Amino acid sequence: MTNQVVFITGATSGIGLGIARQVARQGHVLGFNGLADDATITAVQDELIQLGAKDCQYFDGDMRDPDAIRAMLADAEDKLGRIDVLVNNAGIQHVAAIEEFPTQKWDDVIAINLSASFHAIASVLPGMKARQHGRIINIASVHGLIASVNKTAYIAAKHGLVGLTKAVALEAATDHITVNAICPAWVRTPLVEAQIEARMAANGTTRDAESVALVEERQPTKAFVTPEQIGDLVLYMMSDSAASVTGIAMPIDGAWTAQ
Ligand code: NAD
Repeated sequence: MTNQVVFITGATSGIGLGIARQVARQGHVLGFNGLADDATITAVQDELIQLGAKDCQYFDGDMRDPDAIRAMLADAEDKLGRIDVLVNNAGIQHVAAIEEFPTQKWDDVIAINLSASFHAIASVLPGMKARQHGRIINIASVHGLIASVNKTAYIAAKHGLVGLTKAVALEAATDHITVNAICPAWVRTPLVEAQIEARMAANGTTRDAESVALVEERQPTKAFVTPEQIGDLVLYMMSDSAASVTGIAMPIDGAWTAQ
């Protein structure tokens, strides 16, 4: 399992960057995407090369735009030679009761957290089928398996992503292509930091108090999952040992969904 070409969406930050770091440490070739300024993109690229990536190229593309996603992946296949592993990771969150949920936010969450994966998978699957090898890994969430209040769009998108994972796993089952979802609980990234800050404002408390309260509410281990732990799970799903692991939605959640 060497010299794989791995494309990760939303790898300029958080979980995607953690996955990219673990993949880079194994010496694979990386393509990545994400919304960031030039200085951040260059810093990410330099770090991943320094960690061991054989090559590392950035590809621009707004994950709300189906044509941009398909053009971006065609360009990546062209420049990187092929895509062996697609990690659909880019995502956003919006927290509001359904009566107050802005329509535009609903559309953006569904577009980025669900539809983008459909377009990306449809783009790379023909090449994977032709080569009779591939790995598709969708970063879902515990919210792909269970619900919480005030996150309708996110929960609908992540449940949809788990369904998409199962459906494509069946379509690609005899082509030596596995399709899996990873379902993390709280990981301390900018996406979660925004929720900690909203709780600080609502409760008049500190960042430390709210980060402890957040993780203790639902996660029996009382510890944040780390991006690197998710990266190591991606490496396992990429491996030959995981050839029969397909169509699953695997929690990495400190026993959240065991309750
Ligand atoms: P993050 O905000 O740190 O990173 C999100 C990434 O997606 C960034 O690189 C960002 O630039 C990119 N992105 C967002 N909108 C985009 C767009 N329109 N076009 C292109 N790229 C875009 O968040 P994160 O916590 O690392 O989240 C990564 C994934 O993990 C998401 O799918 C999220 O739902 C999922 N997840 C996060 C947690 C958590 O606790 N942080 C838990 C479970 C699942």
